[in-house]
Amino acid sequence: LIQLYAPLNFLGFVYREIKHSLADMERMFTLLEQGEEVADRPGAQTLATRQAAIRFEQVQFGYDGKRQILHDVSFDIPAGKTVAVVGASGAGKSTLSRLLFRFYDVGAGRITLNGVDIRELTQASLRTHIGIVPQDTVLFNDSIYYNIAYGRPDASREQVIEAARAAHIHDFVSQLPDGYDTVVGERGLKLSGGEKQRVAIARTLLKNPPILIFDEATSALDSHTEKAIQAELAEIAAQRTTLIIAHRLSTVVDAHQIVVMEGGRIIEQGSFRDLLDRQGRFAQMWQLQLQDADHA
Ligand code: ADP
Ligand code: MG
Repeated sequence: LIQLYAPLNFLGFVYREIKHSLADMERMFTLLEQGEEVADRPGAQTLATRQAAIRFEQVQFGYDGKRQILHDVSFDIPAGKTVAVVGASGAGKSTLSRLLFRFYDVGAGRITLNGVDIRELTQASLRTHIGIVPQDTVLFNDSIYYNIAYGRPDASREQVIEAARAAHIHDFVSQLPDGYDTVVGERGLKLSGGEKQRVAIARTLLKNPPILIFDEATSALDSHTEKAIQAELAEIAAQRTTLIIAHRLSTVVDAHQIVVMEGGRIIEQGSFRDLLDRQGRFAQMWQLQLQDADHA
């Protein structure tokens, strides 16, 4: 029986391995597909700046020909400032970040960086200027070290650890038997949503880009860690051009501008004070969240 069982067991192992590889391949194709949506124009410029002013100008966009997702979206993020985008799920918030990173090109209108249409820039140089902490972080099947250092492959070990400390993941990593060499992802240690998010934050801190995109970047964290990391994020966002997509409105109070989206349109735009004074949708959302906080 054992003779029969062993090969079956082995087959089971092979099957699981293949399944994992397929999962990886699927993910890779998704990434490749996203990459194929856009191509560098002949003579595209190489971007090299630490000061990045971003402008969305009457941007229209749909993922397919059938449904338009963004309608006439215009807003500015002056260099070094923070703009927060709020709105219900499906409003088009993450789509803004995908367009800025140029996973897709706009349908009409344009996005400019220091006045230059981002379609005139090489994708590679645009992307080295942007750090994204996405809603769902997918980690590579590799060590925690690799996953952080990926943001800047030439970083020293000290720099990697410094970033991990700032992202409040260092203590967690240190107590693992293999420490930073621990393999994570599909075939390794499964990290919680919050832990993955902290790895992504460490990667972004290490990459140290002039433009930051946080897509509900601390949503998977417990509120204690969230507070601690938010202080870190606020600090690094202070000198950078930052787009924050926020669910918890407490995170947007200090933003230079708040953009309120609904159904792919901007319905309100202004500072926190402006929007409260206006007593519109944002003020309403703010009231609701205050009530929730009271009841929690
Ligand atoms: P939010 O981040 O505000 O929740 P998204 O920008 O992710 O919203 O999505 C806006 C709309 O675009 C949603 O209706 C969503 O279903 C649609 N959408 C998002 N991604 C895709 C995609 N890859 N293909 C087609 N539709 C998409
Ligand atoms: Mg989203």
